[in-house]
Amino acid sequence: MTELFENRTMALMDVIGAYGLGLWDLSGGILHLDQKAGEIIGIGEKSVKLDTFLYLVHESDRDVIKQVFNLVNEKPGSHQIADYRILYRGSYRWVRSLGKGYSKGGKNFVLGTTQVLEGRALEYFTTRADSAAVELSQKEKLYRCVSETAEILLNAEDSGFEKTVQLSMEIIGNAAGLARVYMYKNHLVEGILCCTEIYEWTDSIEPTLGEEYTTDIPYHSWPGLEETLTRANNYNHLVREVSSEIESFVPTGIKALLIVPVFIKDLLWGFVGYDRSREQRFTGAEESVLRSAGLLLANSVIRYDLNKNLYLAVDKINTTSIRADALEVFAYTDALTGLHNRRHFMELAMGSLEKARRFNTTCFAMILDLDFFKKVNDTYGHLAGDEVLKNASMVMKNTLRAYDLLCRYGGEEFVVLTDTSKEAVMLLAERIRDSIENTPCVHGNILVPCTVSIGVAESNPVCSVSELIDMADKGLYQAKELGRNRVVFYDANAPAKT
Ligand code: GH3
Ligand code: MG
Ligand code: MG
Repeated sequence: MTELFENRTMALMDVIGAYGLGLWDLSGGILHLDQKAGEIIGIGEKSVKLDTFLYLVHESDRDVIKQVFNLVNEKPGSHQIADYRILYRGSYRWVRSLGKGYSKGGKNFVLGTTQVLEGRALEYFTTRADSAAVELSQKEKLYRCVSETAEILLNAEDSGFEKTVQLSMEIIGNAAGLARVYMYKNHLVEGILCCTEIYEWTDSIEPTLGEEYTTDIPYHSWPGLEETLTRANNYNHLVREVSSEIESFVPTGIKALLIVPVFIKDLLWGFVGYDRSREQRFTGAEESVLRSAGLLLANSVIRYDLNKNLYLAVDKINTTSIRADALEVFAYTDALTGLHNRRHFMELAMGSLEKARRFNTTCFAMILDLDFFKKVNDTYGHLAGDEVLKNASMVMKNTLRAYDLLCRYGGEEFVVLTDTSKEAVMLLAERIRDSIENTPCVHGNILVPCTVSIGVAESNPVCSVSELIDMADKGLYQAKELGRNRVVFYDANAPAKT
Protein backbone atom coordinates (compact mmCIF):
# COMPACT_ATOMS: atom_id res chain seq x y z
CA MET A 1 0.00 0.00 0.00
CA THR A 2 2.74 2.41 0.99
CA GLU A 3 4.51 1.68 -2.24
CA LEU A 4 1.39 2.27 -4.25
CA PHE A 5 0.80 5.47 -2.43
CA GLU A 6 4.37 6.49 -3.13
CA ASN A 7 3.87 5.65 -6.79
CA ARG A 8 0.83 7.85 -6.90
CA THR A 9 2.63 10.60 -5.13
CA MET A 10 5.60 10.21 -7.44
CA ALA A 11 3.33 10.39 -10.45
CA LEU A 12 1.80 13.51 -9.05
CA MET A 13 5.16 15.01 -8.22
CA ASP A 14 6.28 14.23 -11.71
CA VAL A 15 3.32 16.16 -12.97
CA ILE A 16 3.64 19.15 -10.72
CA GLY A 17 7.27 18.91 -9.69
CA ALA A 18 8.64 21.11 -12.43
CA TYR A 19 6.29 23.85 -11.39
CA GLY A 20 6.46 26.39 -8.66
CA LEU A 21 3.32 27.84 -7.25
CA GLY A 22 2.89 31.58 -6.91
CA LEU A 23 0.22 33.91 -5.65
CA TRP A 24 0.39 37.41 -7.03
CA ASP A 25 -1.53 39.62 -4.65
CA LEU A 26 -2.16 42.53 -6.98
CA SER A 27 -4.09 44.62 -4.48
CA GLY A 28 -1.61 44.05 -1.67
CA GLY A 29 1.38 44.42 -3.97
CA ILE A 30 2.98 41.20 -2.76
CA LEU A 31 4.04 37.99 -4.45
CA HIS A 32 3.91 34.81 -2.34
CA LEU A 33 5.96 31.90 -3.62
CA ASP A 34 6.37 28.32 -2.67
CA GLN A 35 9.89 26.94 -2.40
CA LYS A 36 10.02 25.74 -6.00
CA ALA A 37 8.74 29.01 -7.38
CA GLY A 38 11.24 30.80 -5.16
CA GLU A 39 14.02 28.76 -6.73
CA ILE A 40 12.79 29.39 -10.25
CA ILE A 41 12.48 33.10 -9.78
CA GLY A 42 15.80 33.14 -7.94
CA ILE A 43 14.47 34.40 -4.65
CA GLY A 44 14.90 32.33 -1.57
CA GLU A 45 12.26 34.23 0.34
CA LYS A 46 8.70 33.17 0.43
CA SER A 47 7.19 36.58 -0.23
CA VAL A 48 8.49 39.60 -2.13
CA LYS A 49 7.04 42.93 -3.02
CA LEU A 50 5.61 43.04 -6.53
CA ASP A 51 7.99 45.95 -7.20
CA THR A 52 10.94 43.71 -6.38
CA PHE A 53 9.55 41.02 -8.63
CA LEU A 54 9.12 43.52 -11.48
CA TYR A 55 12.64 44.78 -10.90
CA LEU A 56 13.95 41.20 -11.38
CA VAL A 57 12.02 40.83 -14.65
CA HIS A 58 14.03 41.82 -17.75
CA GLU A 59 13.12 45.42 -18.54
CA SER A 60 11.94 44.51 -22.05
CA ASP A 61 9.46 42.00 -20.55
CA ARG A 62 8.09 44.17 -17.74
CA ASP A 63 5.28 45.43 -19.94
CA VAL A 64 4.15 41.84 -20.55
CA ILE A 65 3.76 41.37 -16.82
CA LYS A 66 2.10 44.72 -16.25
CA GLN A 67 -0.31 43.96 -19.05
CA VAL A 68 -1.24 40.67 -17.36
CA PHE A 69 -1.83 42.48 -14.07
CA ASN A 70 -4.05 45.00 -15.82
CA LEU A 71 -6.03 42.28 -17.54
CA VAL A 72 -6.61 40.48 -14.25
CA ASN A 73 -7.71 43.72 -12.58
CA GLU A 74 -10.16 44.25 -15.39
CA LYS A 75 -11.31 40.63 -15.75
CA PRO A 76 -10.61 38.78 -12.51
CA GLY A 77 -11.70 35.31 -13.70
CA SER A 78 -9.46 35.16 -16.73
CA HIS A 79 -6.66 32.74 -17.53
CA GLN A 80 -3.28 34.33 -18.09
CA ILE A 81 -0.01 33.23 -19.54
CA ALA A 82 3.25 35.14 -19.62
CA ASP A 83 6.72 34.23 -20.86
CA TYR A 84 9.42 36.50 -19.53
CA ARG A 85 13.07 36.65 -18.62
CA ILE A 86 13.95 36.92 -14.99
CA LEU A 87 17.26 37.65 -13.31
CA TYR A 88 18.71 34.43 -12.00
CA ARG A 89 22.18 34.37 -10.43
CA GLY A 90 23.39 37.34 -12.40
CA SER A 91 21.89 36.47 -15.80
CA TYR A 92 18.43 36.30 -17.27
CA ARG A 93 16.54 33.11 -17.98
CA TRP A 94 13.20 32.49 -19.60
CA VAL A 95 10.33 31.41 -17.43
CA ARG A 96 6.67 30.93 -18.08
CA SER A 97 3.95 31.77 -15.60
CA LEU A 98 0.50 30.44 -16.13
CA GLY A 99 -2.34 31.37 -13.90
CA LYS A 100 -5.87 32.33 -13.26
CA GLY A 101 -7.00 35.62 -11.87
CA TYR A 102 -9.60 35.85 -9.21
CA SER A 103 -11.17 38.32 -6.91
CA LYS A 104 -11.75 37.86 -3.21
CA GLY A 105 -12.90 40.39 -0.68
CA GLY A 106 -12.53 43.18 -3.21
CA LYS A 107 -8.89 42.24 -3.83
CA ASN A 108 -7.45 40.80 -7.01
CA PHE A 109 -5.05 37.90 -7.18
CA VAL A 110 -3.39 35.69 -9.72
CA LEU A 111 -2.75 32.12 -8.67
CA GLY A 112 -0.52 30.20 -10.97
CA THR A 113 2.47 28.10 -11.76
CA THR A 114 5.89 29.14 -12.93
CA GLN A 115 8.17 26.95 -14.96
CA VAL A 116 11.65 27.41 -16.33
CA LEU A 117 11.84 27.31 -20.10
CA GLU A 118 15.09 25.59 -20.72
CA GLY A 119 16.92 23.08 -22.87
CA ARG A 120 15.02 21.89 -25.88
CA ALA A 121 11.98 23.88 -24.94
CA LEU A 122 13.91 27.12 -24.74
CA GLU A 123 15.72 26.39 -27.96
CA TYR A 124 12.41 25.85 -29.69
CA PHE A 125 11.07 28.88 -28.03
CA THR A 126 13.85 31.17 -29.17
CA THR A 127 14.46 29.68 -32.61
CA ARG A 128 11.11 28.32 -33.66
CA ALA A 129 8.90 30.25 -31.35
CA ASP A 130 5.61 29.35 -32.99
CA SER A 131 5.77 25.57 -33.07
CA ALA A 132 7.44 25.47 -29.65
CA ALA A 133 4.74 27.65 -28.24
CA VAL A 134 2.15 25.29 -29.66
CA GLU A 135 3.84 22.26 -28.14
CA LEU A 136 4.37 23.96 -24.83
CA SER A 137 0.87 25.25 -24.56
CA GLN A 138 -0.36 21.80 -25.50
CA LYS A 139 1.76 20.38 -22.71
CA GLU A 140 0.53 23.05 -20.32
CA LYS A 141 -3.02 22.19 -21.18
CA LEU A 142 -2.33 18.54 -20.59
CA TYR A 143 -0.53 19.15 -17.35
CA ARG A 144 -3.41 21.22 -16.18
CA CYS A 145 -5.85 18.43 -16.99
CA VAL A 146 -3.65 15.83 -15.38
CA SER A 147 -3.53 17.88 -12.18
CA GLU A 148 -7.28 18.12 -12.38
CA THR A 149 -7.49 14.38 -12.94
CA ALA A 150 -5.13 13.74 -10.06
CA GLU A 151 -7.29 15.75 -7.78
CA ILE A 152 -10.52 14.00 -8.65
CA LEU A 153 -8.88 10.58 -8.54
CA LEU A 154 -7.28 11.21 -5.18
CA ASN A 155 -10.61 12.34 -3.81
CA ALA A 156 -12.67 9.66 -5.55
CA GLU A 157 -15.25 8.01 -3.38
CA ASP A 158 -14.94 4.28 -3.74
CA SER A 159 -18.65 4.04 -4.45
CA GLY A 160 -18.43 6.15 -7.59
CA PHE A 161 -14.95 5.09 -8.49
CA GLU A 162 -15.57 3.60 -11.95
CA LYS A 163 -17.31 6.77 -13.08
CA THR A 164 -14.45 8.86 -11.75
CA VAL A 165 -11.94 6.90 -13.80
CA GLN A 166 -14.06 7.42 -16.91
CA LEU A 167 -14.40 11.10 -16.16
CA SER A 168 -10.62 11.36 -15.73
CA MET A 169 -10.15 9.59 -19.04
CA GLU A 170 -12.57 12.01 -20.63
CA ILE A 171 -10.70 15.04 -19.29
CA ILE A 172 -7.42 13.68 -20.60
CA GLY A 173 -8.95 12.54 -23.86
CA ASN A 174 -10.50 15.92 -24.54
CA ALA A 175 -7.42 17.88 -23.55
CA ALA A 176 -5.20 15.80 -25.82
CA GLY A 177 -7.71 15.65 -28.68
CA LEU A 178 -7.99 11.86 -28.56
CA ALA A 179 -10.58 9.42 -29.84
CA ARG A 180 -10.09 6.86 -27.09
CA VAL A 181 -8.43 6.42 -23.71
CA TYR A 182 -8.34 2.93 -22.29
CA MET A 183 -6.79 0.62 -19.76
CA TYR A 184 -5.87 -3.05 -20.00
CA LYS A 185 -5.09 -5.37 -17.13
CA ASN A 186 -2.96 -8.51 -17.42
CA HIS A 187 -3.95 -11.98 -16.40
CA LEU A 188 -3.08 -15.55 -17.27
CA VAL A 189 -5.22 -17.78 -19.45
CA GLU A 190 -3.98 -21.35 -19.29
CA GLY A 191 -0.52 -20.10 -18.40
CA ILE A 192 -0.35 -17.56 -21.24
CA LEU A 193 0.03 -13.86 -20.48
CA CYS A 194 -3.09 -12.11 -21.70
CA CYS A 195 -4.75 -8.77 -21.15
CA THR A 196 -8.31 -7.49 -21.10
CA GLU A 197 -9.69 -4.01 -21.45
CA ILE A 198 -11.13 -2.83 -18.12
CA TYR A 199 -11.80 0.89 -18.58
CA GLU A 200 -12.48 3.02 -21.61
CA TRP A 201 -13.55 6.42 -22.81
CA THR A 202 -14.26 7.01 -26.48
CA ASP A 203 -15.15 9.99 -28.59
CA SER A 204 -16.72 9.60 -32.03
CA ILE A 205 -15.73 5.95 -32.29
CA GLU A 206 -17.58 2.85 -31.18
CA PRO A 207 -16.93 1.71 -27.61
CA THR A 208 -14.82 -1.44 -27.49
CA LEU A 209 -15.13 -2.46 -23.87
CA GLY A 210 -16.30 -6.06 -23.52
CA GLU A 211 -15.81 -6.82 -27.21
CA GLU A 212 -14.14 -10.07 -28.19
CA TYR A 213 -11.10 -8.28 -29.62
CA THR A 214 -10.48 -6.44 -26.33
CA THR A 215 -10.93 -9.45 -24.05
CA ASP A 216 -8.36 -12.11 -23.11
CA ILE A 217 -5.87 -10.95 -25.73
CA PRO A 218 -2.63 -12.98 -25.61
CA TYR A 219 0.36 -10.64 -25.75
CA HIS A 220 2.04 -12.80 -28.37
CA SER A 221 -0.73 -11.99 -30.83
CA TRP A 222 0.41 -8.34 -30.82
CA PRO A 223 3.95 -8.37 -32.20
CA GLY A 224 6.41 -6.26 -30.23
CA LEU A 225 3.99 -5.04 -27.60
CA GLU A 226 5.19 -7.15 -24.68
CA GLU A 227 8.88 -6.57 -25.53
CA THR A 228 8.37 -2.82 -25.61
CA LEU A 229 6.28 -2.60 -22.47
CA THR A 230 8.37 -4.95 -20.33
CA ARG A 231 11.38 -2.78 -21.10
CA ALA A 232 9.35 0.05 -19.58
CA ASN A 233 9.18 1.79 -22.94
CA ASN A 234 6.12 3.42 -24.44
CA TYR A 235 4.63 1.88 -27.56
CA ASN A 236 4.23 4.92 -29.79
CA HIS A 237 3.31 4.26 -33.41
CA LEU A 238 1.30 5.33 -36.37
CA VAL A 239 -1.06 2.49 -37.14
CA ARG A 240 0.12 2.18 -40.75
CA GLU A 241 3.71 1.73 -39.57
CA VAL A 242 3.06 -1.34 -37.51
CA SER A 243 2.33 -4.86 -38.54
CA SER A 244 -1.00 -5.59 -40.13
CA GLU A 245 -1.42 -8.29 -37.49
CA ILE A 246 -2.45 -5.72 -34.94
CA GLU A 247 -5.15 -4.23 -37.14
CA SER A 248 -7.75 -6.42 -35.54
CA PHE A 249 -7.00 -4.83 -32.16
CA VAL A 250 -7.20 -1.23 -33.32
CA PRO A 251 -10.65 0.30 -33.60
CA THR A 252 -11.65 1.53 -37.03
CA GLY A 253 -10.61 5.11 -37.68
CA ILE A 254 -7.62 5.11 -35.35
CA LYS A 255 -4.42 6.36 -36.97
CA ALA A 256 -1.97 6.80 -34.10
CA LEU A 257 -1.54 5.02 -30.83
CA LEU A 258 0.41 5.45 -27.65
CA ILE A 259 0.54 2.71 -25.03
CA VAL A 260 2.27 3.24 -21.69
CA PRO A 261 3.16 0.33 -19.42
CA VAL A 262 2.09 0.07 -15.80
CA PHE A 263 4.19 -1.93 -13.37
CA ILE A 264 3.73 -3.22 -9.88
CA LYS A 265 7.29 -3.68 -8.69
CA ASP A 266 8.95 -5.40 -11.68
CA LEU A 267 5.79 -7.00 -12.93
CA LEU A 268 3.90 -5.65 -15.89
CA TRP A 269 0.43 -5.06 -14.45
CA GLY A 270 -1.13 -3.82 -17.68
CA PHE A 271 -1.17 -0.63 -19.71
CA VAL A 272 -2.96 2.58 -20.46
CA GLY A 273 -3.49 3.45 -24.09
CA TYR A 274 -4.36 6.54 -26.08
CA ASP A 275 -5.78 6.48 -29.61
CA ARG A 276 -5.90 9.33 -32.06
CA SER A 277 -7.85 9.47 -35.28
CA ARG A 278 -5.49 12.08 -36.77
CA GLU A 279 -2.43 10.57 -38.41
CA GLN A 280 0.00 12.30 -36.13
CA ARG A 281 2.55 10.58 -33.96
CA PHE A 282 2.43 11.46 -30.26
CA THR A 283 5.11 14.04 -29.50
CA GLY A 284 7.68 13.74 -26.73
CA ALA A 285 5.78 16.31 -24.69
CA GLU A 286 2.55 14.38 -25.09
CA GLU A 287 4.26 11.11 -24.29
CA SER A 288 5.67 12.39 -21.02
CA VAL A 289 2.41 13.90 -19.85
CA LEU A 290 0.26 10.98 -20.98
CA ARG A 291 2.62 8.57 -19.29
CA SER A 292 2.15 10.43 -16.01
CA ALA A 293 -1.57 10.54 -16.59
CA GLY A 294 -1.65 6.82 -17.33
CA LEU A 295 0.30 6.01 -14.20
CA LEU A 296 -2.03 8.12 -12.19
CA LEU A 297 -5.10 6.41 -13.62
CA ALA A 298 -3.68 2.92 -13.25
CA ASN A 299 -2.42 3.48 -9.73
CA SER A 300 -5.84 4.67 -8.71
CA VAL A 301 -7.38 1.55 -10.21
CA ILE A 302 -4.82 -0.69 -8.51
CA ARG A 303 -5.42 0.98 -5.19
CA TYR A 304 -9.16 0.68 -5.67
CA ASP A 305 -8.90 -3.00 -6.58
CA LEU A 306 -6.74 -3.64 -3.55
CA ASN A 307 -9.15 -1.83 -1.31
CA LYS A 308 -12.11 -3.58 -2.81
CA ASN A 309 -10.55 -6.97 -2.18
CA LEU A 310 -9.57 -5.81 1.25
CA TYR A 311 -13.10 -4.69 2.00
CA LEU A 312 -14.50 -7.91 0.57
CA ALA A 313 -12.00 -9.93 2.58
CA VAL A 314 -12.82 -8.01 5.75
CA ASP A 315 -16.52 -8.46 5.05
CA LYS A 316 -16.02 -12.12 4.43
CA ILE A 317 -13.96 -12.60 7.56
CA ASN A 318 -16.54 -10.75 9.57
CA THR A 319 -19.58 -12.50 8.23
CA THR A 320 -18.06 -15.96 8.23
CA SER A 321 -16.59 -15.63 11.68
CA ILE A 322 -19.74 -14.06 13.02
CA ARG A 323 -21.73 -16.81 11.37
CA ALA A 324 -19.32 -19.43 12.67
CA ASP A 325 -19.56 -17.94 16.15
CA ALA A 326 -23.31 -17.93 15.90
CA LEU A 327 -23.37 -21.50 14.66
CA GLU A 328 -21.06 -22.51 17.44
CA VAL A 329 -23.33 -20.89 19.97
CA PHE A 330 -26.32 -22.61 18.38
CA ALA A 331 -24.53 -25.91 18.31
CA TYR A 332 -23.45 -25.85 21.96
CA THR A 333 -26.00 -23.92 23.91
CA ASP A 334 -29.64 -23.94 24.69
CA ALA A 335 -31.37 -20.92 23.21
CA LEU A 336 -33.71 -20.18 26.12
CA THR A 337 -31.38 -20.53 29.08
CA GLY A 338 -27.95 -20.11 27.52
CA LEU A 339 -26.80 -23.27 29.28
CA HIS A 340 -24.94 -26.07 27.53
CA ASN A 341 -27.33 -28.12 25.47
CA ARG A 342 -27.68 -31.83 26.03
CA ARG A 343 -25.44 -32.95 23.17
CA HIS A 344 -22.60 -30.67 24.15
CA PHE A 345 -22.99 -31.56 27.79
CA MET A 346 -22.77 -35.28 27.01
CA GLU A 347 -19.45 -34.70 25.20
CA LEU A 348 -18.01 -32.67 28.05
CA ALA A 349 -19.34 -35.11 30.66
CA MET A 350 -17.70 -38.02 28.86
CA GLY A 351 -14.38 -36.23 29.18
CA SER A 352 -14.94 -35.60 32.89
CA LEU A 353 -15.93 -39.17 33.56
CA GLU A 354 -12.91 -40.43 31.65
CA LYS A 355 -10.66 -38.16 33.67
CA ALA A 356 -12.18 -39.35 36.93
CA ARG A 357 -11.55 -42.93 35.86
CA ARG A 358 -7.91 -42.16 35.10
CA PHE A 359 -7.41 -40.48 38.47
CA ASN A 360 -9.35 -43.22 40.16
CA THR A 361 -11.93 -40.87 41.56
CA THR A 362 -15.64 -40.51 40.96
CA CYS A 363 -18.12 -37.91 39.73
CA PHE A 364 -21.60 -37.06 40.85
CA ALA A 365 -24.55 -36.39 38.62
CA MET A 366 -27.58 -34.43 39.67
CA ILE A 367 -30.79 -34.38 37.72
CA LEU A 368 -33.11 -31.54 38.58
CA ASP A 369 -36.75 -31.49 37.50
CA LEU A 370 -39.06 -28.57 38.20
CA ASP A 371 -42.11 -29.57 40.16
CA PHE A 372 -45.57 -29.36 38.68
CA PHE A 373 -44.24 -27.34 35.86
CA LYS A 374 -47.17 -28.12 33.69
CA LYS A 375 -49.27 -26.35 36.27
CA VAL A 376 -46.96 -23.32 36.17
CA ASN A 377 -47.58 -23.08 32.43
CA ASP A 378 -51.27 -23.64 32.85
CA THR A 379 -51.62 -21.08 35.63
CA TYR A 380 -49.34 -18.31 34.48
CA GLY A 381 -48.94 -18.99 30.78
CA HIS A 382 -46.16 -20.35 28.66
CA LEU A 383 -44.18 -17.11 28.70
CA ALA A 384 -44.17 -17.13 32.48
CA GLY A 385 -43.04 -20.76 32.26
CA ASP A 386 -40.11 -19.70 30.10
CA GLU A 387 -39.18 -17.03 32.62
CA VAL A 388 -39.27 -19.61 35.42
CA LEU A 389 -36.92 -21.84 33.38
CA LYS A 390 -34.51 -18.93 32.91
CA ASN A 391 -34.76 -17.95 36.54
CA ALA A 392 -34.07 -21.48 37.74
CA SER A 393 -31.12 -21.75 35.35
CA MET A 394 -29.66 -18.56 36.76
CA VAL A 395 -30.05 -19.76 40.32
CA MET A 396 -28.33 -23.05 39.48
CA LYS A 397 -25.51 -21.33 37.66
CA ASN A 398 -24.93 -18.94 40.53
CA THR A 399 -24.88 -21.71 43.09
CA LEU A 400 -22.53 -24.02 41.20
CA ARG A 401 -18.79 -23.57 40.83
CA ALA A 402 -17.43 -22.49 37.46
CA TYR A 403 -16.03 -25.92 36.66
CA ASP A 404 -19.19 -27.87 37.48
CA LEU A 405 -20.98 -28.86 34.30
CA LEU A 406 -24.58 -27.76 33.98
CA CYS A 407 -26.95 -28.33 31.09
CA ARG A 408 -30.56 -28.06 30.14
CA TYR A 409 -31.21 -31.72 29.63
CA GLY A 410 -34.77 -31.48 28.37
CA GLY A 411 -37.91 -29.34 28.85
CA GLU A 412 -37.79 -28.53 32.56
CA GLU A 413 -34.97 -30.90 33.41
CA PHE A 414 -31.39 -30.00 34.13
CA VAL A 415 -28.32 -32.10 34.76
CA VAL A 416 -25.21 -31.23 36.78
CA LEU A 417 -21.94 -33.11 36.76
CA THR A 418 -19.47 -32.34 39.52
CA ASP A 419 -16.43 -34.07 41.00
CA THR A 420 -16.77 -33.28 44.65
CA SER A 421 -17.51 -35.58 47.64
CA LYS A 422 -20.89 -37.11 48.43
CA GLU A 423 -21.40 -34.77 51.40
CA ALA A 424 -20.46 -31.74 49.33
CA VAL A 425 -22.70 -32.71 46.41
CA MET A 426 -25.65 -33.26 48.74
CA LEU A 427 -25.07 -29.86 50.32
CA LEU A 428 -24.81 -28.30 46.88
CA ALA A 429 -28.04 -29.96 45.73
CA GLU A 430 -29.79 -28.83 48.88
CA ARG A 431 -28.55 -25.28 48.38
CA ILE A 432 -29.92 -25.27 44.80
CA ARG A 433 -33.25 -26.68 45.93
CA ASP A 434 -33.49 -24.06 48.68
CA SER A 435 -32.47 -21.19 46.40
CA ILE A 436 -35.03 -22.11 43.75
CA GLU A 437 -37.76 -22.34 46.32
CA ASN A 438 -36.80 -18.98 47.78
CA THR A 439 -36.13 -17.17 44.54
CA PRO A 440 -39.50 -16.90 42.90
CA CYS A 441 -39.48 -15.68 39.34
CA VAL A 442 -40.69 -12.16 38.67
CA HIS A 443 -42.92 -12.17 35.62
CA GLY A 444 -44.48 -8.84 34.82
CA ASN A 445 -45.75 -7.71 38.18
CA ILE A 446 -46.41 -11.12 39.62
CA LEU A 447 -44.23 -13.60 41.45
CA VAL A 448 -44.22 -17.13 40.08
CA PRO A 449 -43.10 -19.62 42.72
CA CYS A 450 -41.44 -22.85 41.78
CA THR A 451 -39.72 -25.78 43.44
CA VAL A 452 -37.39 -28.45 42.18
CA SER A 453 -36.82 -32.12 42.91
CA ILE A 454 -33.29 -33.47 42.59
CA GLY A 455 -31.88 -36.94 42.19
CA VAL A 456 -28.17 -37.49 42.81
CA ALA A 457 -25.90 -40.45 41.97
CA GLU A 458 -22.24 -41.31 42.11
CA SER A 459 -20.31 -42.72 39.15
CA ASN A 460 -18.40 -45.99 39.20
CA PRO A 461 -15.41 -47.06 37.08
CA VAL A 462 -17.58 -48.79 34.51
CA CYS A 463 -20.61 -46.57 34.04
CA SER A 464 -21.27 -44.29 31.08
CA VAL A 465 -22.66 -40.78 31.33
CA SER A 466 -26.13 -42.01 30.37
CA GLU A 467 -25.97 -44.76 32.98
CA LEU A 468 -24.91 -42.27 35.62
CA ILE A 469 -27.80 -39.97 34.68
CA ASP A 470 -30.17 -42.93 34.72
CA MET A 471 -29.13 -43.66 38.30
CA ALA A 472 -29.66 -40.03 39.29
CA ASP A 473 -33.03 -40.19 37.55
CA LYS A 474 -33.98 -43.03 39.88
CA GLY A 475 -33.17 -40.71 42.79
CA LEU A 476 -35.33 -38.04 41.14
CA TYR A 477 -38.21 -40.46 40.79
CA GLN A 478 -37.99 -41.17 44.50
CA ALA A 479 -37.86 -37.45 45.28
CA LYS A 480 -41.05 -36.93 43.29
CA GLU A 481 -42.62 -39.91 44.98
CA LEU A 482 -41.70 -38.58 48.41
CA GLY A 483 -43.58 -35.36 47.75
CA ARG A 484 -41.24 -33.24 45.56
CA ASN A 485 -39.11 -30.23 46.52
CA ARG A 486 -36.42 -32.50 47.93
CA VAL A 487 -33.07 -34.14 47.18
CA VAL A 488 -32.62 -37.92 47.02
CA PHE A 489 -29.34 -39.74 46.64
CA TYR A 490 -29.69 -42.90 44.66
CA ASP A 491 -27.46 -45.63 46.03
CA ALA A 492 -26.96 -48.31 43.42
CA ASN A 493 -25.53 -50.69 46.00
CA ALA A 494 -28.34 -50.28 48.48
CA PRO A 495 -31.08 -52.88 48.25
CA ALA A 496 -33.93 -51.53 46.14
CA LYS A 497 -36.87 -50.18 48.11
CA THR A 498 -40.23 -51.48 47.23
P1 GH3 B 1 -43.52 -33.06 37.82
O1 GH3 B 1 -43.46 -32.32 39.10
O2 GH3 B 1 -44.02 -34.45 37.95
O3 GH3 B 1 -42.25 -32.97 37.07
O4 GH3 B 1 -44.65 -32.33 36.99
P2 GH3 B 1 -44.41 -31.51 35.71
O5 GH3 B 1 -45.67 -30.80 35.39
O6 GH3 B 1 -43.24 -30.64 35.90
O7 GH3 B 1 -44.06 -32.60 34.71
P3 GH3 B 1 -44.39 -32.90 33.20
O8 GH3 B 1 -43.20 -33.63 32.62
O9 GH3 B 1 -45.72 -33.54 33.10
O10 GH3 B 1 -44.55 -31.52 32.53
C1 GH3 B 1 -43.38 -30.77 32.06
C2 GH3 B 1 -43.92 -29.55 31.38
O11 GH3 B 1 -42.87 -28.66 31.07
C3 GH3 B 1 -44.65 -29.86 30.13
C4 GH3 B 1 -44.19 -28.81 29.16
O12 GH3 B 1 -45.26 -28.07 28.64
C5 GH3 B 1 -43.33 -27.89 30.00
N1 GH3 B 1 -42.21 -27.42 29.27
C6 GH3 B 1 -41.23 -28.14 28.70
N2 GH3 B 1 -40.37 -27.32 28.09
C7 GH3 B 1 -40.82 -26.05 28.24
C8 GH3 B 1 -40.38 -24.74 27.83
O13 GH3 B 1 -39.38 -24.60 27.16
N3 GH3 B 1 -41.12 -23.68 28.21
C9 GH3 B 1 -42.26 -23.83 28.96
N4 GH3 B 1 -42.91 -22.73 29.30
N5 GH3 B 1 -42.70 -25.02 29.35
C10 GH3 B 1 -42.02 -26.13 29.01
MG1 MG C 1 -40.09 -33.53 33.63
MG1 MG D 1 -41.39 -31.53 36.11
